[in-house]
Amino acid sequence: MTVEQDKLDRFLFEDRNVRGELVKLRDSYKAILDSYKYPPIIQDLLGELMAAACLLTATLKFKGEVSLQIQSEGLVKYVVINGTHDQKLRGVARWNEQFKLPSTFSALFSKGFLAITLAPEEGERYQGIVALDKETLAECLEDYFLQSEQLLTKVSLKTQRNDDGVSAGGMLLQVIPETSETSQAHENSDFDHLGYLMDTLKDDELFSLPTEQILHRLFHDEKVRLFEPQAVEFSCDCSKQRSATALQNVSKADLLEIVAEEGAVVMNCQFCHQEYRFDAIDVESIHADNIATDEVKH
Ligand SMILES: [Zn+2]
Repeated sequence: MTVEQDKLDRFLFEDRNVRGELVKLRDSYKAILDSYKYPPIIQDLLGELMAAACLLTATLKFKGEVSLQIQSEGLVKYVVINGTHDQKLRGVARWNEQFKLPSTFSALFSKGFLAITLAPEEGERYQGIVALDKETLAECLEDYFLQSEQLLTKVSLKTQRNDDGVSAGGMLLQVIPETSETSQAHENSDFDHLGYLMDTLKDDELFSLPTEQILHRLFHDEKVRLFEPQAVEFSCDCSKQRSATALQNVSKADLLEIVAEEGAVVMNCQFCHQEYRFDAIDVESIHADNIATDEVKH
């Protein structure tokens, strides 16, 4: 049986005020891991953050981008995953490569926080920040939803590495706001019960069973409506032209000096690590374009 990967499923408990999401990533996750030599703990972190970005973008009510950005003064400096409303993801991690990394989530950071930025194509940006002071990223996200959206939320994030390759995935249950009391209440027996059932999901089941079977296995006494799935893909919008535009800010003499010393000016995309090389002829054309645009302006 083949299981569809790289997709996001949304579902609804018809008799409860609770909705859910389930995401499974394989090729999109592998594409991010292939872009750089990430150690296992960073691979896990990127996988969890990717799954989290999918779960979050699924809650968007607008066209635009969500950015999940971890910053800390610890061994892990910076991890970012950007996702769009149509589930196109890209991301990168930076850490202190001179040290051996610890094996637990919380030990990776010092004064760490997660900034979640919602950037609609039209309208105001919104940013929420939560401290990375819990034992898992999933718990930090639950905190985010409660603080920023006043919504009782349960999140599970998982990654797996075996002979079949790498997988990342996650699940989310969230109270549908009816009144502020029902969504914020820490005691909500319907929600607690569903959350308890969700906790019984094993990693193998998440990564090997189709969504219908997972939902049946977890919630067979519930009336669950499953919506059309959404495909998730790794996608970076970088290009040689964009890199060339950035180089217009460096003087022609400086660029030619780099070409003379190193053979080419090399730019790497921070998200997909695609390499763009510029030789002396490229440098001439970068600055020729520059002069042309200057002349138009004046
Ligand atoms: Zn790129």
